[in-house]
Amino acid sequence: MELIIFFWLICGVIAASIGSDKECGCLGFILGILLGPFGIIIILLIKGNKKLCPYCMSRIPAEATVCSKCQRDMSQEEKKQEIER
Ligand SMILES: [Zn+2]
Repeated sequence: MELIIFFWLICGVIAASIGSDKECGCLGFILGILLGPFGIIIILLIKGNKKLCPYCMSRIPAEATVCSKCQRDMSQEEKKQEIER
């Protein structure tokens, strides 16, 4: 029984460490503790919805049009990237 609790705690720590680099380490920890390995999967999915701001290199939601950190307009940058492709 202790082993399961220990395993769940490890899942919480792993999820928290995955979440920490996108400023939701607390959410990751809670998900990991509550859902165990499933919490890790969820936090990985949330991480997939983030993109890197080309101006300040911080992670922001993929749908964001203005960077929450440096307030730069992201929609312009996306249009440029689409043309380059
Ligand atoms: Zn930025």
